[in-house]
Amino acid sequence: MKHLMILLWPAVWLVLGTDAPVLADDIADAHSRMIRTVKAMAQITPIAGKKHPISIKVLAAMGQVKRHKFVPRVRRSLAYENRPLPIGHGQTISQPYMVALMTDLLELEKGDTVFEMGTGSGYQAAVLAALGVRVQTVEIIKDLADEAKARLRELNYSHVTVRWADGYYGDPENAPFDGIIITAAASHIPPPLIAQLKPGGRMIIPVGPKFMAQQLVLVSKASDGKVTTRRLLPVAFVPVTRTRKP
Ligand code: SAH
Repeated sequence: MKHLMILLWPAVWLVLGTDAPVLADDIADAHSRMIRTVKAMAQITPIAGKKHPISIKVLAAMGQVKRHKFVPRVRRSLAYENRPLPIGHGQTISQPYMVALMTDLLELEKGDTVFEMGTGSGYQAAVLAALGVRVQTVEIIKDLADEAKARLRELNYSHVTVRWADGYYGDPENAPFDGIIITAAASHIPPPLIAQLKPGGRMIIPVGPKFMAQQLVLVSKASDGKVTTRRLLPVAFVPVTRTRKP
C-alpha cells in the first residue's frame, strides 16, 4: 500500500495539484515569506543607482492584503511567490516586489486620492486602500473590471471605485490626484494624466515599447506645476491597449 501511494503520488498531485485546499497556517506562512522576499529584493535592486528599502507602512499594507484572493483558483498555491501570475484575458497580476516598489514611490499619506490605470485583479488597488488612501481605478477589459469590482466589494475595500474605461483619459471628475499609477506599459506618458496630477503629486509609469523592457518612470509635479521625470529601472509590463485614438 505504501509503495502504491509513493507510485501514485505524482498522479494524485497532478489531479489535485495547485487546486488542492491549502491550510490557513500555510497561507499565513507563505504570506510572511513573501513580505521577507520583497524586503530582500529591495536590498539587491538598485533604483536609479541607489538602494531603495520599502517603507514599513507599505510592507504592512502588503501584509494585510490576501493575494490569494486575487489570483485564479488554479494558481492559488503560487499566490505568495514573488512573481507575476496570469489572471486571464492575457493579463497578469504584477510581481509583489513591483507592487511594493511602485506603491512606495508614490509617497502617499492617509486620506490621499490615487488614480490607477489598469485594475486587473484589483490587488494593487487593495494594497493602496490598505494604506488608507482612496482609489479610483479603471480597467479596459470589461470582464476583469466586473470581476475586480465584485472581488473588492466582497473583501470590503469600500475606498476603491472600479470603472470599466480607457484609463488614458484619467478621471477628470475626481481629479486632481495626489498619486497616479499606471500598471501597464505605455508608449508615452498620457498628457491627460499629467494634467490630473496635483501640484506636489507623483505618478509612476512603465514607459517603453510593447513586449520589450520598459523603464519605470517617476513623474513629479512641483508645487509651481513644473513637471520632471526620472527613469528608475528596467521593467516588463503587459502593454496598455486603447479603445480609440486620443
Ligand atoms: N494592477 C493590476 C495588474 C494589471 S495588468 C493588478 O494588481 O492585478 C495591466 C492591466 O491594465 C490589464 O488588466 C489591462 O487590461 C489593463 N489596461 C491596459 N490598457 C488599459 C487602458 N488603456 N485603460 C485601462 N486599463 C488598461
